[in-house]
Amino acid sequence: MNTRRDFLQKIGASALMLQLSSITAFSNTPGQIEQPYQGKVLRVAIMGLGGYGTRVAEAMKACTKAKLVGVISGTPSKIKDWQAKYNLPEKNCYNYENFDQVKDNPDIDAIYVITPNALHHNQVIRVAKAGKHAICEKPMALNAKEGQEMIAACKKANVKLLVGYRMHFEPQTLEVIRMRNAGDFGKIMFFQGQCGFKTGDPNQWRLNKALAGGGSMMDIGIYAINGARYMVGEEPIWVTAQETKTDPIKFKEGVDETIQFQLGFPSGAVASLLSSYNINHLDRFFMSGDNGFAELQPSTGYGPITGRTHKGELTQPITTHQTVQMDEMATIIFENKQPVVPVNGEEGLKDLKIIDAVYQAVKTGKKVTLTA
Ligand code: NDP
Repeated sequence: MNTRRDFLQKIGASALMLQLSSITAFSNTPGQIEQPYQGKVLRVAIMGLGGYGTRVAEAMKACTKAKLVGVISGTPSKIKDWQAKYNLPEKNCYNYENFDQVKDNPDIDAIYVITPNALHHNQVIRVAKAGKHAICEKPMALNAKEGQEMIAACKKANVKLLVGYRMHFEPQTLEVIRMRNAGDFGKIMFFQGQCGFKTGDPNQWRLNKALAGGGSMMDIGIYAINGARYMVGEEPIWVTAQETKTDPIKFKEGVDETIQFQLGFPSGAVASLLSSYNINHLDRFFMSGDNGFAELQPSTGYGPITGRTHKGELTQPITTHQTVQMDEMATIIFENKQPVVPVNGEEGLKDLKIIDAVYQAVKTGKKVTLTA
């Protein structure tokens, strides 16, 4: 018998980008015609027109509730290209020196900060002061102190702060969370998260502590931390961590190559996590409970995410993560929707507190206790 998944895979991922542009727009009824969205559209300017900014912009073409309307960039030639490609008016284009003027622009609702990690703190605070909602890429900042300041600035300006946690809207992931909440796995005992890849160009900002704030942990290890939290469904109370460095020339002081680390949860569940910039094919979550298990592999890549549990293969629809994320964020901003797994500044801060603790545990070799 053909499964829904077989059918979806046959018609191909590109066609799906249109069909599955939003979870909420997805229909199970054959022949049902979608009503065009008539609500308020989130008008977004992207700051930082690099690799991921480009991916988000392309994915936003299929959004129904969010639209790319402007850019902020330090590279004039990119602004010109994007203006032509996405039909962006000159008045919605800024650089890093003048983007505070966006406060006088009524045609932009939110700014999506997709620049190197170390710039997020200052840029989000400037976005807030300009009275615009801030969407910020992960890691939200370099440490918990910066994260707290960003949350405070957005609160003061009465704007929303959201973090680009695209997995929080991913259907296979949400199914595992639903099953866990329904008790299908029984008492959760163990989570394993392996996140890593071999990083290339030694001159990229990701290997520069001043711009990256660290190494693999800031970039990819954060997925293991965030995943452990949303899969287990608890907040950790302790961290232990060990670092391995095989290439101290490429991975300089303060830029971690590989960190193995462990989290302990109040229920007694433990997580064994791996973050690496020097090991390929690490994109796997595994969770074991008294009555069952869940496995996602790949677990956080751009997809398709593939999963199975003790009950069989997961067959949820394959989505373009960034399309769904931006449509969902429009609803969070305009309708105060509460997603199953939060994407607000407080959620970003929780991961930053754990990252701080991981680095402290690596430095001291001691178990670090986490407080709420
Ligand atoms: P890129 O290097 O591809 O792009 C970053 C862009 O930021 C640049 O192209 C540039 O754009 C701008 N920029 C501003 N100042 C600097 C600077 N001093 N050095 C370098 N670039 C600068 O990085 P990514 O797009 O891969 O990553 C950006 C952010 O997005 C990071 O925080 C990363 O963690 C996050 N990310 C998230 C992913 C996810 O799946 N959620 C995936 C990949 C990245 P311009 O020329 O327009 O100014």
